[in-house]
Amino acid sequence: MAALGYSDTPIIPGSTFRVHDSDRPQPRIVTPGTAGTQSEPGTPPSDAVILFDGKSLDGWQSCKDDGPAKWELTSGYMQVLPGTGSIRTRAAFGSCQLHVEFASPTVVKGDGQGRGNSGVFLMGLYEVQVLDCFQNPTYADGTTGGIYGQFPPLVNACRKPGEWSFYDIIWEAPVFDGETLRTPAYLTVLLNGILLHNRKELQGPTEHRKQAAYRPHPATGPLELQDHGDLVRFRNIWYRPLTGYDMV
Ligand code: MG
Repeated sequence: MAALGYSDTPIIPGSTFRVHDSDRPQPRIVTPGTAGTQSEPGTPPSDAVILFDGKSLDGWQSCKDDGPAKWELTSGYMQVLPGTGSIRTRAAFGSCQLHVEFASPTVVKGDGQGRGNSGVFLMGLYEVQVLDCFQNPTYADGTTGGIYGQFPPLVNACRKPGEWSFYDIIWEAPVFDGETLRTPAYLTVLLNGILLHNRKELQGPTEHRKQAAYRPHPATGPLELQDHGDLVRFRNIWYRPLTGYDMV
């Protein structure tokens, strides 16, 4: 086989490989999924860990009593059943690429934080806000895609009520050394392909009307979806663990 690259080039600083190194591992092959439409959910890439495929809530439990999730499961999506409580995955995981599709209620009701409120909580602690902010002003750090109580999204990229939207999130979990925070959490968030946060350093877990502050927690945690009393829908939820370079 012909050489793929070179063996007489400089070593890349911080690496064991040369510039254009013939021996550098080939990137692992992942078959991409498809984008969702207003009528069909997207499909995950081939190496994704599926958290919700539209067919079963088996992977989810109620945050109220650890029993089965009681949200409604209908034609490919789940919908908050108000009063049954937030739900979380039985699986726990850490740093990842996360994909979540959601739709605000078709029937517009309430205003401010009372309109289409839900939330995507990384590790059950760190909220990316879900809200219907289509012609619905509220405090900026609580708008759609806000890192609640800390950072507003860079822009409002909401679609109309009832329309499907999607988050693509890169989550870098915080690292603790005993009681000490070694590395804070970072969030990159896109809504409908539009950048809302670019590797933003978080100040701690989400708080309401309080300053956030880190407290030690395990290296992995569940994904939690919030019951805030509104009929928000979710579909096609998956993640891919973050990995380093040259991992085959
Ligand atoms: Mg919320």
